[in-house]
Amino acid sequence: GTAVTARAAAPAPAPGEQALLPVVGAGTRVPLVDGTQRTYANLDCAASAPALEAVAARVAEVLPLYASVHRGAGYLSQVSTALYEASRQAVARFVGAREDDVCVITRNTTDSLNLLAGVVPAGGRVLVLDVEHHANLLPWVQRSGTAQRGTGRVATVLPLEPTVAATLDAIRAELARGPYALLTLTGASNVTGEALPLDEVVAIAHAAGTRVAVDGAQLVPHRGFSLAATDVDYVAFSGHKTYAPYGAGALVGRRDWLDTGTPYLAGGGAVRDVRTDRTVWQPAPARHEAGSPNVVGAIALAQACDTLAALPAGALEAHEQALRARLVDGLAAIDGVEVARVWPDSADPVGVVTFTVADRNPGLVAAYLAAEHGIGVRDGRFCAHPLLAHLGAEQGAIRASVGVGTTAEHVDRLVAALAALQARGT
Ligand code: PLP
Repeated sequence: GTAVTARAAAPAPAPGEQALLPVVGAGTRVPLVDGTQRTYANLDCAASAPALEAVAARVAEVLPLYASVHRGAGYLSQVSTALYEASRQAVARFVGAREDDVCVITRNTTDSLNLLAGVVPAGGRVLVLDVEHHANLLPWVQRSGTAQRGTGRVATVLPLEPTVAATLDAIRAELARGPYALLTLTGASNVTGEALPLDEVVAIAHAAGTRVAVDGAQLVPHRGFSLAATDVDYVAFSGHKTYAPYGAGALVGRRDWLDTGTPYLAGGGAVRDVRTDRTVWQPAPARHEAGSPNVVGAIALAQACDTLAALPAGALEAHEQALRARLVDGLAAIDGVEVARVWPDSADPVGVVTFTVADRNPGLVAAYLAAEHGIGVRDGRFCAHPLLAHLGAEQGAIRASVGVGTTAEHVDRLVAALAALQARGT
């Protein structure tokens, strides 16, 4: 009796101490410059996250089953088609799609946002913030170039304000100068992890008759997200940042623009009937999925979504909040290290932390972390050049980011390595 009681009373590990979910390659040993090896500390999950073991298992299971989808009559074609369509449902469910929303399987967030930029109705103006990843900046800016040549779409890029409140005011004021068809913004910055409060943004935009699109690349895998709960109109995200392999992502949202807008790609599968002199296109999602789809990618993404959705409520947030706090506190204690914030008043940033080390080249710091400590971080300007300019980091910075496979040891190793570097001097 006593032994059983003692075992039952053993404390559960604190959030962040251990991986929340098993990921493939977690024990990979990497070579260090001194000729030894070390277990890799992957602190670059914001760029691409390692696949979940559940995803790897699912891919192994379905690889022998796949055959042509949609047009095949054979048994395996029917299985593949069913799996592909069920995956679409799972992805839609994961982002809280409303009953009439459409889920288009794309390649990634960049693909999704380019697709959306192409279906904004002619004449529709789009408002963008300059804190965005290039994927949520350039499609709109480039489309406004197209607009000047005919469709009348125009994108306005709003400069960053130093607080959340000031940014919301600037959005409200600009929308009043509209009408704007769409406001598109990041659900969490790929540089600082910060975001504007979505409920307030949606209220402001909808009051102005403007739809809202969320670049969910850094939000969806780390906090979960619901279209229905937030009343956001569109969300885009990437499989390779959501613990699935490269090559599948999604755009989920309102049906009308997607049903009538210009097909993203022209080709087989997107059409109902073709004659030499006319083409009848399918409605969405088929309208935007010409060509043979990434069936295995979609199945893998759906498995990742289902596995994340099956976590106990709050576990994902608790894991990543604990790791972010540990990282930020650790960095703050090191001389010369400064963590970047865009909106210091923003709530609950995700586990993406960008910092600079005074008088040190970010690329050399990243190389030191890799070569001497087996730590993977990212350096540079993170596909967000306007934001890095705002942060005064034109020469780049260093980014560490966590995920479900990250442990406290990874974070502690990074902090200790930086402290050692600073203690070493030049
Ligand atoms: N948006 C954000 C916020 C990102 O972090 C990224 C990834 O780097 C992207 C968009 C682009 O994602 P992908 O390269 O998967 O299209």
